[in-house]
Amino acid sequence: MNDVDVDVVVVGAGGGGLAAALAASDAGASVVVFEKSDSPGGNTALSTGSIPAAGSKLQKAAGVQDSPERMVADLLRQSGPHENEEVLRQLAESSAELIDWLTESHNVSLSLVTDYKHVGHTVHRLHAPESRRGADLTDDLVAACRAANIDVITNSPVSSLLVEDGCVEGVVISGERVETQQIRARAVILASNGFGANPALIRTWLPEAMGTEYFGAHGSTGEGIEWGLELGGHLANATAYQGYAAVAYPHGSILSWTTIEMGGIIIDSTGNRLGDESVGYSGFTTRIIKGVAPFYVLCDERIRDLACRESEYAELVDMGGVRSYASAADLAEALGIPVHSLERTLAEYQSAAAGDSADPFQRRDFGIAPLQSPLMVSRVVPGIFHTQGGLAVDTEGRVLGAGDRPIQGLFAVGGVAAGVSGATGADGYSSGNGLLSAIGLGRIAGRAAVSA
Ligand SMILES: Cc1cc2nc3c(=O)[nH]c(=O)nc-3n(C[C@H](O)[C@H](O)[C@H](O)COP(=O)(O)OP(=O)(O)OC[C@H]3O[C@@H](n4cnc5c(N)ncnc54)[C@H](O)[C@@H]3O)c2cc1C
Repeated sequence: MNDVDVDVVVVGAGGGGLAAALAASDAGASVVVFEKSDSPGGNTALSTGSIPAAGSKLQKAAGVQDSPERMVADLLRQSGPHENEEVLRQLAESSAELIDWLTESHNVSLSLVTDYKHVGHTVHRLHAPESRRGADLTDDLVAACRAANIDVITNSPVSSLLVEDGCVEGVVISGERVETQQIRARAVILASNGFGANPALIRTWLPEAMGTEYFGAHGSTGEGIEWGLELGGHLANATAYQGYAAVAYPHGSILSWTTIEMGGIIIDSTGNRLGDESVGYSGFTTRIIKGVAPFYVLCDERIRDLACRESEYAELVDMGGVRSYASAADLAEALGIPVHSLERTLAEYQSAAAGDSADPFQRRDFGIAPLQSPLMVSRVVPGIFHTQGGLAVDTEGRVLGAGDRPIQGLFAVGGVAAGVSGATGADGYSSGNGLLSAIGLGRIAGRAAVSA
């Protein structure tokens, strides 16, 4: 291709797009990022910013022994076999380098999370901003793009791809606040996330999740995936997603899962538990929706104080989202829950946590439970955070077309690409899988796009 406006166009300024842009720029390419919203960030800014990595310098400094093989084994144990295992291996193998690259080459502030491991990990391997706010991560990535003279242009929706003879040669920008224009490029990296915000696509591709509220960013409307399909691409791990069983109601913030890992439980309005909460926040979403709303997380003061290390939970406490009740009877009366049922549920759980009997749901990990009085209670709703099904890609993020041959000039990362959370459902999600596919694959695809 001769006349290009820019070497690489990136569609979407979330974690995946910003990382891809930085990597392409590091490799000497001219890059522009188009973002349809009025600010960068996407889902990544709403997340806790936790990225898993095996063998990073931060882990070594903390004395954590880890390896890509162990990371792959951990994630596959949670997800079961799936259609994207080669990409998973590539992501695990490059994950330590990813964290070092972000922190050392691009001044992204991350530390190793040692308060919790969360779902799927057998060692401390999540790396996150100190605040546990994804917005801090995207702010750092935007600052790094600015330092590298990469244009991140907001209010600029990409409306279609420029395609000639099956090769992608650029994008069309058009929208209410921008003149329609064509941008020609050697490579296009789709980083526009999945389809969580598109009810019609949820109905088509993920009917299991219909009726569950979506709590991610509104830009995730799935057009990137549709463009890839139109060019002969296909979906992989199509019906996998990340759910979250405990979004604080009505606040809409993430109710820290540390409350559960340290010994809390979830009950419904009948006073019953709904399953083994230790399957994790995503897997428990499918259990909780079978109960009778409203739903509540119960823990105690010690657990509340531990979870308050996470600023979003501390804010929820400040806003009155965690209430204290002296006894189960007080709690039941205040919330209109049948007292006998709640007392029986608690008695069974406390006995199991003390090691005196088996847990009715076979839970084995009780944190610091049995719970102590007073009880801390938060109302929660289950939600979808993002979809994990997406376009099949190779280990460099090239979108695979007919006969599994790469479509020339087209890359996909993050929620546009197939995830690594199993083939189907919410159970296979391990903490950090979303950002691993976004930022990890973004960096790999950004480099590869330079030689496309
Ligand atoms: C509350 C919450 C907490 C989470 N916590 C974690 C966590 O700690 N760790 C983890 O790994 N994952 C987490 N996730 C999931 C994670 O946020 C996503 O998997 C990840 O952010 C996806 O990154 P992305 O770059 O693919 O998409 P995004 O960050 O959503 O970026 C995509 C961008 O593309 C833009 N866009 C879309 N279409 C177009 C278009 N046509 N033209 C131009 N721009 C477009 C969007 O507006 C958006 O800004 C969480 C999700 C939520 C909702």
